[in-house]
Amino acid sequence: MRVLVGGGTGFVGRALTQLLRSRGHEVTHVSRQGGKDRISWEELSYSGLPLCDAVVNLAGENVLNPFRRWGDAFCREVISSRVETTKTLAKAIADAEQPPRAWVLVTGVGYYRPSLTAEYTEDSPGGDFDFFSRLVSSWEAAALIPGSPARGVVVRSGVVLGRGGGAISQMLWPFRLGLGGPLGSGLQPFPWIHIRDLAGIVCHALESECLQGILNGVSPSSPATSNGTFAQELAAALGRPALLPVPAWAVQAVFGAERAIMLLEGQRVVPKHTLESGYHFIFPDLSGALRDIVA
Ligand code: NDP
Repeated sequence: MRVLVGGGTGFVGRALTQLLRSRGHEVTHVSRQGGKDRISWEELSYSGLPLCDAVVNLAGENVLNPFRRWGDAFCREVISSRVETTKTLAKAIADAEQPPRAWVLVTGVGYYRPSLTAEYTEDSPGGDFDFFSRLVSSWEAAALIPGSPARGVVVRSGVVLGRGGGAISQMLWPFRLGLGGPLGSGLQPFPWIHIRDLAGIVCHALESECLQGILNGVSPSSPATSNGTFAQELAAALGRPALLPVPAWAVQAVFGAERAIMLLEGQRVVPKHTLESGYHFIFPDLSGALRDIVA
């Protein structure tokens, strides 16, 4: 299969590309930077979709970049890097003489309202209560192509855990020094997925000829994982204590109050359709996932 991946140079994209190539698929990235097996977003807009069997979009400015102040300019970039890239790919698919068979978008579980108790499946409502939920709604709406023969799949991902990037790369050094701990109360749910499983779900979505709709990209044990449990398990995997909670005000000071919600609140998300679709998780349990990452 020839697969075109927007944002394929990033943390998730590198894992997906490796997996797809190992399974014999050809991968081309859409990127802001030139290079081998890449096309630019401008080229895509002007020349249309290159001949391909499937399209994936993973592009998006890193929301949790602690070096970027949470203000209007950054918010606009966070939105446009997701919604505009998705629109560009959707338009290219809609205009293609030979449309691809599959079109997969990765969004986030920020679609569901944070709660200590509620559990959400792919059928649960959301998408209309804060910045992140509305972002996911417009991102997913941008992917819709009425009447297209391309199967549409949206994977709503939790926090992606893996080596060499993502949220864990910023947490590892304080935990290695024994200075890690839960964020805020630590009671908030921590929806997570191992990077190999997120890449695996996207690949499963591309290869399963009848699959379409929403898939939650979280591990099956994710609904039972709180931020406090995560801190304890990460510390245990590193053989260090996790005694020092990070107060909510400190998280808000670094990230800004609106963005800090992503860390201080969370959702219990169940991968119901993902499991029903026949996907088998490589890392269903947190301890195994973390041992793999920090080993
Ligand atoms: P990365 O931060 O690694 O970025 C992915 C790619 O997006 C980059 O390699 C870059 O490609 C492109 N990109 C970055 N900024 C911009 C911009 N301003 N305009 C256009 N393109 C841009 O993301 P991840 O791989 O971690 O995540 C992939 C997708 O999954 C993202 O959309 C993210 O929101 C979503 N997601 C990720 C989670 C996580 O924990 N990592 C959790 C939930 C959802 P290039 O430089 O080649 O143009």
